[in-house]
Amino acid sequence: MNKGKLIVLSGFSGAGKGTVIKRLREKYDYSLSISATTRAPREGEVDGKDYYFKTVDEFKSLIDYNGLIEWAQYVDNYYGTPRKFVEEEMAAGKNVILEIEVQGAMKIKAQYPNAILIFVTTKDIETLRERLTSRGTETAEVIQKRISRAAEEAESMEAYEFIVINDDLETCVDAVNAIVVSESCKKENRTQFLIDIKRQLDEL
Ligand code: 5GP
Repeated sequence: MNKGKLIVLSGFSGAGKGTVIKRLREKYDYSLSISATTRAPREGEVDGKDYYFKTVDEFKSLIDYNGLIEWAQYVDNYYGTPRKFVEEEMAAGKNVILEIEVQGAMKIKAQYPNAILIFVTTKDIETLRERLTSRGTETAEVIQKRISRAAEEAESMEAYEFIVINDDLETCVDAVNAIVVSESCKKENRTQFLIDIKRQLDEL
């Protein structure tokens, strides 16, 4: 009954999801799932903090023993969400953020129908290209692949319940939190409260 919520945050590569999540966690109380990936670490990325960096064989064995709640291939690499952390945190009543791409998000929704699916985007594609270029972490070829992938992902945006534009960071962060708070207040998520309050009234 008091289980925490699963919040799936997706968005174009370069939309600023990482920054949004960092700020969200500074301001509010959220757990963040750390994914496993076969992608090489970017400069400054730390194993166990940004990702669990795996070889393809290691990743495949994670799949084999059901250690991931979802996984997907994205621009030549595998990415997946470790099961244990998510299940434990939710059981402890924590709201858990998954920063994952569209295919993974759909797999999560199928398994956890109450998951909240939020798509974060820049206000236009030009801003996206600028952000990817100025980050300086990817080659021109990879940037182009990520822009092409964004075109595919845009088609899946419709599958998300919420679309948040990351123009001003604080506004975006507060919007994401407001979505989660209002979902928690829905009467479907207040069943135990309704039972309790009616019982208290009956006892008067
Ligand atoms: P990046 O290489 O930029 O860190 O991530 C590339 C894409 O993979 C992003 O869209 C990110 O949200 C997604 N991603 C990261 N972790 C996971 C995961 O565990 N599962 C899935 N399906 N996608 C992920």
